[in-house]
Amino acid sequence: MFTLEQVNHEVDLFVKETQMSIPPLTNIIHIDSHKSFACVSSSDIASGKYIIYISNDLCQYDLDYQISVLWHEFVHVHDILYFKNIKNIKYIMATCSEAFATTTQLEYLCRKSNTKHILYEGQLTTVSAVAQSYFRTSVQYCKDVLSTSNPKSFYNAIRNFSYCCGAILLCWEDPLKFLKENIDDYPEVFQHDLLQIGDAIFSKNPIRAGNLYEKLHRAQQKQALERIANRNK
Ligand SMILES: [Zn+2]
Repeated sequence: MFTLEQVNHEVDLFVKETQMSIPPLTNIIHIDSHKSFACVSSSDIASGKYIIYISNDLCQYDLDYQISVLWHEFVHVHDILYFKNIKNIKYIMATCSEAFATTTQLEYLCRKSNTKHILYEGQLTTVSAVAQSYFRTSVQYCKDVLSTSNPKSFYNAIRNFSYCCGAILLCWEDPLKFLKENIDDYPEVFQHDLLQIGDAIFSKNPIRAGNLYEKLHRAQQKQALERIANRNK
């Protein structure tokens, strides 16, 4: 389990390596949650409480992976502070921030590895395999959106799509080309919007990515209500 001192040592290394400035964290809270390995809360950070919540599940992995998860969260801390006055920050956090947090996390693991392989969640793998795994997960969630109309599925689809974009950025020379070649795997209704969000992420335009996701989210909510109403007829 990390101490606050260890986490803040990583904050120093993160700031030096990425040039993203973040303040030292003020607290670590270890939690018994299986939802994610670690998280930060926008409301905490925006109110000056620099807290990271770390799941006890994280301890089972090797130290480099655990630290890579911290670096992922540090990007979120940076983005929450950087975009705190932007109206649709929550849509930026779910798209560009997830993508760049994933890129930063994978870059960290690549630096620590002497080979093309990285240990990711305890598995010996490659960045490209990680990208493809997130791709498949997001395709599945998109299909679930249409079959279940569960709003959580849509949120998970976008999050995994953003993780995938972050990984693609690291391993494909032309990330948009990869996305265009594989976009047919998604249900047709999502293809156009996902390509646009991908393009915004790859061209490092968080505001545009946030706006696109917000628009898509509203359209999606409306369509989900219509699907539920039709089913109940
Ligand atoms: Zn994240």
